[in-house]
Amino acid sequence: MTWNIAPESISLVMLGIILIYSRKGSHLPTLKNRMFQGCLFVTFCAMLTNILSTVMIYFYQIIPLWMTWLITTLYFILTPLMGMTYFLYTLAIIYTESPNLKKAFLFCSIPGLGYAVLVVLNPFTRNIFDLTAAQGYTRGSMIGTTYLIFYFYCLACIVVTLKNYQKLDKEISRILAAFPVLAVLVIVFQQLYPQIILSGTAATCALLIIYLHLQNKQISLDYLTNLPNRQELLNMLTLLLTRYPDRPFTLVVVSLRDFRQINNTCGQQNGDAFLKSVSQFLSMAGPQQNVYRFSGDEFALLFPREDDDKIRTCIYEIQKRMSGSWQVNDFHFTLTAVIGVIRHTEASQTLEETIASIEYAVMQAKTEKYGQICYCDRAMLANLERRRQIIQILKDKLTDQSFEMFYQPIYDIKTGSFLYAESLMRMNDTPIGPVYPSEFIPIAEETGLLIEITYIILKKVCQFINQLLEMQIPIKCVHVNFSAIQFSQPELAKKVLGIINSCHTPAHTLKIEFTESTLAENPEIVREFALEMERHGIMMGLDDFGTGYSNIATVISLPFGTVKLDRSLVYASMENPTSALAVKNLVRTFKELGMQVVAEGVETEEQRQLVIDFGIDQIQGYYYSKPLSEADLLRFLTGRV
Ligand code: C2E
Ligand code: CA
Ligand code: CA
Repeated sequence: MTWNIAPESISLVMLGIILIYSRKGSHLPTLKNRMFQGCLFVTFCAMLTNILSTVMIYFYQIIPLWMTWLITTLYFILTPLMGMTYFLYTLAIIYTESPNLKKAFLFCSIPGLGYAVLVVLNPFTRNIFDLTAAQGYTRGSMIGTTYLIFYFYCLACIVVTLKNYQKLDKEISRILAAFPVLAVLVIVFQQLYPQIILSGTAATCALLIIYLHLQNKQISLDYLTNLPNRQELLNMLTLLLTRYPDRPFTLVVVSLRDFRQINNTCGQQNGDAFLKSVSQFLSMAGPQQNVYRFSGDEFALLFPREDDDKIRTCIYEIQKRMSGSWQVNDFHFTLTAVIGVIRHTEASQTLEETIASIEYAVMQAKTEKYGQICYCDRAMLANLERRRQIIQILKDKLTDQSFEMFYQPIYDIKTGSFLYAESLMRMNDTPIGPVYPSEFIPIAEETGLLIEITYIILKKVCQFINQLLEMQIPIKCVHVNFSAIQFSQPELAKKVLGIINSCHTPAHTLKIEFTESTLAENPEIVREFALEMERHGIMMGLDDFGTGYSNIATVISLPFGTVKLDRSLVYASMENPTSALAVKNLVRTFKELGMQVVAEGVETEEQRQLVIDFGIDQIQGYYYSKPLSEADLLRFLTGRV
């Protein structure tokens, strides 16, 4: 019989290409990745020996017999082992990093290894095949074992895949089933047309499908910088944490500051080019193959082993380079980068802790206290732990809507009564004792939890206003604080109006306070929102005036009912007559523009007198009252003690 080896030869070339490309893919030393390389390698060798042995058998009279023997023996060993490596790869995918996987591998390799011994002994037994100078190639009595082993592993693949069908992603199970199903089809085809050799072609097709879907490098690489992406870092960390839970690895995150500004001033394309330059520098300076794109403008460097000198030198190099300038096309940039550093097992035990502590370290590095680099130490971890607890408390309180609202009365000078109040959130009752707004509000802002919390606060305030109105308490309006992040919400106005309407609270009884920095950050969004609120009769108030750097032109062009002077202006005026004069003129200007001016933080009689002299309309401060619970405010306003 003559054999057609054309399909097998073409497949060999294809497989060679996959082999080369897959080397550039995920570099994680997982069993799954190693087994995939194993599958490719064994299949490649099986196909190569198949082609060579076919040619050699055809020309057996010319080629030395021992060479044909050797190559054919290798072919007989490798071909069924293709099935075995594929089966082991299937196990590695399904059971990932299970501690028993290695044992399972050994156990499942027994039939394959037993068969290999049979083939090695074939020159003595001639059970599988025979080769003689006179007759050439003839089949042995036990050649069926070759197919049996192959069938056995194909069947095993199908069985484990089906057994884990529920637990596996549907796409993965379909891909895993591709090889055995293709193998069966090919064997049927082979029976019909024995002269066309196709076994390697089937394996190549299966491996191509796997490569495209499961092992493709695009899954693990960041598109822009060609660095492994965040998911790949998480996979690597998981691997380190499960395999070597006690090995101290170090994670460094370099975060570029104000990167948005580059995009704004030089355009997205130059911004991208800049990111590429930084990533190229970091992959040279950082630990080989362990530099990742952590987020848009953050890069992670993972040092899997303890090597303090190397880590220190690397950080020094990065700091040195980052203090210099960068050139992209015609643009020159100098940008600061902050660095967060954590060490497992000091800073974290689990993946979540590792990510939380590195993000915390980066966040701390951005604060002035740490001067651009922050090593996460035990004291910081205690802070982090407290932060974690506060986040949990905020989440719990959000779930059961159990925030307490306090209200600080605001005194109206003209009428001599308390016509206003500011709502202030409290968390006095928590498992870790009272937590104050100065601590929990920044955390709620950073985690984004404040967005939903504010909607709940608004609802609570509306309900309380309704109660005040029902009791005919003469209150004009209650102030609610909105932080800057609230304005990142696309449907803010709609949501706010929805809540007020659903509570049937008169719009004019609410005033939304926001700070100067909010205005400075999002002038356009705030303007649109303020105009929309004005259309619906809801007032707006500028808070903490004198602490930010808002453009005075923006301030006066917006429909603010009130401007609240920050307490620092009151204190400064007490100390310094020039400041007092400036504040007095400011108050006059605001009033001429039709705004009401509120003085905040008034504690003493002198301060009260001073702000009255300024011509202020309302006063808020401990002089009159601290923030009060709902019940206390009711008592305060109705004059009952
Ligand atoms: P803020 O909006 O400027 O609120 C006024 C803060 O000044 C309140 O602090 C209040 O208790 C305090 N205060 C009032 N009178 C005096 C005084 O005479 N002397 C002194 N030393 N302080 C006085 P609080 O309640 O601790 O809130 C701090 C900050 O937390 C608030 O500053 C606000 O920015 C934020 N915050 C509080 N509650 C909420 C809320 O419900 N939502 C939002 N977004 N932020 C809130
Ligand atoms: Ca306020
Ligand atoms: Ca304020």
